[in-house]
Amino acid sequence: MSKKIFVTDTILRDAHQSLIATRMRLEDMLPICEKLDRVGYWSLEVWGGATFDACVRFLKEDPWERLRQLRAALPNTRLQMLLRGQNLLGYRHYSDDVVKAFVAKAAVNGIDVFRIFDAMNDVRNLRVAIEAVKAAGKHAQGTLCYTTSPVHTIDAFVAQAKQMEAMGCDSVAIKDMAGLLTPYATGELVKALKAEQSLPVFIHSHDTAGLAAMCQLKAIENGADHIDTAISAFAWGTSHPGTESMVAALKGSEYDTGLDLELLQEIGLYFYAVRKKYHQFESEFTAVDTRVQVNQVPGGMMSNLANQLKEQGALHRINEVFEEIPKVRADLGFPPLVTPTSQIVGTQAVFNVLAGERYKTITNEVKLYLQGRYGKAPGKVNEHLRFRAIGSEEVIEGRPADLLKPEMAKLRTEIGALAKSEEDVLTYAMFPDIGRKFLEERAAGTLTPEVLLPIPDGSQTAVSGEGVPTEFVIDVHGESYRVDITGVGVKTDGKRHFYLSIDGMPEEVVFEPLNAFVGGGAGGKRKHASAPGDVSTSMPGNIVDVLVKEGDVVKVGQPVLITEAMKMETEVQAPIAGTVKAVHVAKGDRVNPGEVLIEIEG
Ligand code: MN
Repeated sequence: MSKKIFVTDTILRDAHQSLIATRMRLEDMLPICEKLDRVGYWSLEVWGGATFDACVRFLKEDPWERLRQLRAALPNTRLQMLLRGQNLLGYRHYSDDVVKAFVAKAAVNGIDVFRIFDAMNDVRNLRVAIEAVKAAGKHAQGTLCYTTSPVHTIDAFVAQAKQMEAMGCDSVAIKDMAGLLTPYATGELVKALKAEQSLPVFIHSHDTAGLAAMCQLKAIENGADHIDTAISAFAWGTSHPGTESMVAALKGSEYDTGLDLELLQEIGLYFYAVRKKYHQFESEFTAVDTRVQVNQVPGGMMSNLANQLKEQGALHRINEVFEEIPKVRADLGFPPLVTPTSQIVGTQAVFNVLAGERYKTITNEVKLYLQGRYGKAPGKVNEHLRFRAIGSEEVIEGRPADLLKPEMAKLRTEIGALAKSEEDVLTYAMFPDIGRKFLEERAAGTLTPEVLLPIPDGSQTAVSGEGVPTEFVIDVHGESYRVDITGVGVKTDGKRHFYLSIDGMPEEVVFEPLNAFVGGGAGGKRKHASAPGDVSTSMPGNIVDVLVKEGDVVKVGQPVLITEAMKMETEVQAPIAGTVKAVHVAKGDRVNPGEVLIEIEG
């Protein structure tokens, strides 16, 4: 008896997300679509939170327009997207009316298959999205975010799959975002799923630890129906098993995919050339790394952490952070590590390491998590930590979105005439800051994609001028800036002046021995905190809000500042009770650890 295995290729979404920071542009997809459409894939994964984000933030492509063009270029293939349940493509829970509007528009613009997951595996956060997909007449795929912990047993996963089946899902996916699956564990899980529920089983496994192809084979032998692969030019490592390899592996067996290996190889050659164009986005963390089997940190999270630590000048402490992550995860009741829980756990772990004391600073996101605002934790949370974070505040037991009022009307008003369509309103809803910026730039005709650096062999020059590039796009705390170096001054008194323009505005930077500060800003350096009433932070970051002014009387522990570091906001509290003597910061200021930001007199 033979059983055809169906293939989803992730080349247009997860493959480039995993290997080149989601930077592939539509112009590099369209020329190969005719061939991709001829392959006979069950589906092509084309859209998700990161692709949407990168389109708006860096590539200055309208993600909806990308979807429509792919739809037109791939008339015979199902298009698939990854949806973060009630979070849609964003980082917070949306009200139900936004979820319904988003799913309806994604369906109209071309999505056929919605893979829906919740980072906590709390199925209550999937329900409205599943219903919306079914209302649009599309395929709803329920997702098991795979992880290992004392509470993530086969029985627990089977129970979740049955719940998703009862909610109307058409299939179930095992989403192994970190590459934690091992071949025999996969076999056991798939066997149980096939025995206990009736939905087709998809297997999405990252090859981070070099095990994904073996996992897929064991899954297939135990009854799995679909596999996710990536065309070889963007396969393996933190991506997926190579499409050509899996097709070859199954060829002639009872599990033959029926796909044309020669056609796939032509497509593979095309993408080998494309990948070179994006060399500047190749992360050093994309190769096989078996450490995930110990520290459970997904590949994407590893490169994010490395970037965050680099920004803090603390890259050498990455191994301490890797050790801290499982401890934070245990304190939070073992959430799977996937957007947004990976950021929540990862950033708290960084704070715990860099502050020299665990939970000295607790991020607002961890507080919200401990209030139940992301859903129910898979296991028990550390109650001491919960008390420390939120005191005796109420913990939400119900579905978090039940607390949200309808938002679409408000969003439409907020974005106003900048939105030319309901899709634009949804772009703004997903990414309020960069979405608005995108719509403003589009209206002004100033949309400019980030610059691609020349390919090292010199065969392509994307930057104006010859030789060394003098134009860069840098990313600081999620905002990108175009930097153009216009001149370098003579070194005097050990200082050197650099002249640049940032987003067209002239700036001067002075580098001093061992230290640097950006000229033109307020007042140079702040003094070092030493008195008990000196308020400082443990991390470099930006001031989001100043909550007190000179003369205010504050209690010990009262929040006086909100800072932002690594995209996470934290409150800084008064170290002593007293009167605010001086405030040395304003909203938007960049601050460094140990600096006196506010002085309080006891
Ligand atoms: Mn993935």
